[in-house]
Amino acid sequence: MPATATIVATATPTGHGGIGVIRLSGPEAIAIGRLVFRSEIPLGDRTRYVELGRAVNAVGDDIDSALAWAFKAPASYTGEDTVEISTHGSVVVLECLVDAAIAHGATLAQPGEFTRRAFLNGRIDLIQAEAVVDLIQCQSRGSMSTAYHASCGQLSQQVQQIKVKVIQALSWIEVGLDFTDEDIDPIQQTKTLNLLAAAANDIEQLVESFESARRRHEGFSVVLLGRPNAGKSTLMNALLAEDRAIVDSAPGTTRDTVEARIIWRGENVRLIDTAGIRTDDTGSIEREGMARTWRAVADADCVVIVLDGSKPWDEDDAALLSQLNGTPTLLALNKSDLQRAMCLPPEGSVECAAFEVSALDGAGLDELSKAASGQLSRPRSGLGLGLLRQRHHDLLTGAGSSIDKAVGLISEEGLPECAGAALRDCLGAVGAVLGENVDEAVLDQIFAEFCIGK
Ligand code: GDP
Repeated sequence: MPATATIVATATPTGHGGIGVIRLSGPEAIAIGRLVFRSEIPLGDRTRYVELGRAVNAVGDDIDSALAWAFKAPASYTGEDTVEISTHGSVVVLECLVDAAIAHGATLAQPGEFTRRAFLNGRIDLIQAEAVVDLIQCQSRGSMSTAYHASCGQLSQQVQQIKVKVIQALSWIEVGLDFTDEDIDPIQQTKTLNLLAAAANDIEQLVESFESARRRHEGFSVVLLGRPNAGKSTLMNALLAEDRAIVDSAPGTTRDTVEARIIWRGENVRLIDTAGIRTDDTGSIEREGMARTWRAVADADCVVIVLDGSKPWDEDDAALLSQLNGTPTLLALNKSDLQRAMCLPPEGSVECAAFEVSALDGAGLDELSKAASGQLSRPRSGLGLGLLRQRHHDLLTGAGSSIDKAVGLISEEGLPECAGAALRDCLGAVGAVLGENVDEAVLDQIFAEFCIGK
C-alpha cells in the first residue's frame, strides 16, 4: 500500500434507532479521527480503549455524543492505524461525520476496502477474505460454520500443508536431478511418490467437499412430488407455516414450481412444491409444468412423494416411485385425518420410509421434516471445513491434475525433470487459491461482492 495520507471512511447504520459506526483506516486515521471526535483523553493515546466524547462536523460543531476507539498498526483488522466511531444510528449524523472526515483528507471506502487492505497488508490471505463475504452471506448454521472456520484460517492451513508437501517433493526431485549420472535412488523416488500421493489425497478431499459445502451454502433442495390434489401445496404451507403456495381443491392448480426457504435443524433448505404428476393427455402449459417438475427432481437432495391417503394405491403411484432411483425419497401418506384407503405396496417392495401426515391438522409433520433433513448430505468433516468457492474448486482440481501428471512422469516415464515443471504448475494453482500472484482483476471481482464498510 502506498503510504499516503488517504484513509477510508465508511458509515454503517445498523437500522432505525440502532447504532452507526464509521471506520477510518490508514496512516492518518488517528489524526483525522481526533478532528472529528473530541474526547477528554485524545483518541489514540490509549489504544484499544473506548473513549466517550463528541462527534463533530466539518466546521467543528458538535453533532452527537459518541464512543470511539483506535487500533495502532499493525495490530488492527487492516494492518493500518484504524479508528472506529460509534454514534447514534441517524443517517444524517453519519453523513455529517463522513463528510467531516472527507473534509480532513479521507476518501470514501470502496466495497470490501477494509478487507482488501487487510489482504494487501498480509493480515489475511485471499481464502480468509473470501470467507468474510461467505460469512456475511451465509443462510444457515452449517454454512456459517464452514465460512467461519475458513475466515479463521483453517482452510488456508490445509491448503498450506498441501503446498509444503509439493515443495518438499519438488526439492527431492531437484536434488535427484543434480546426480543425473547415477542411477535413480529407488528409496528417494518412493518417498517422493508417497508424498505426492498424500498431497493428491488432501486435494481430492477438499475438491469432493465442494459439492456438499456449496449446496449447504446455497440451500439443499427438498422437492414435494405427487399427483394433483394429493395435498402438496397444503403440505408446503404447513411446513412453512405460512400461505406461500396456492391451495385449491380443483386438481392441477400449481403448474409451476414454487420455492421457499426454510431452516431445518440449522440447515438452509429450499422447499419446492411442484406441478402435480399427470398421466392423462395434457395441454402445453401442463407439459411445461411437468418438465419443470422433473428438472427439480433431477436436482433434488431429497424427494417427498405426497400421496392422498384417502385414495387407494394404484399403478401410477408405483410407476412414480420407480422413476426416482438413486434420489433419497420419503413417502408422505397425507390426509391422515380422513378415513384411510391407501394401501401401500407389500412391505419390502418399497425402500423408502413412509410417514402418516395430515397437512391440514399438522399431524406427523415434525417426524417428516426430521426424516427429510436427515437425508441431506452434509460435509464429512465435523469441523465444517469445505470448499465454498468455485474459484478454489477449479484451481485445486487443476493442482490435482498437475500432481497426477508429475506422478506419471516419475513412475512411468522416468522423466523427473518434466515432473518438476508439472509440480511448479501445481504450486502456482495452490498459491493462487491463497491469493499469491493473483491478478488485480480477480481481486476486483472478489471484493466487489462485499458491502461498503467491510
Ligand atoms: P396439490 O394439488 O397436491 O398441491 O393439493 P392441494 O394442497 O391443493 O390440496 C388439494 C385439496 O386437498 C385441498 O382441498 C386441500 O384442502 C385438501 N387437503 C390437503 N391436505 C389435506 C389433509 O391433510 N387433510 C384433508 N382432509 N384435506 C387435505
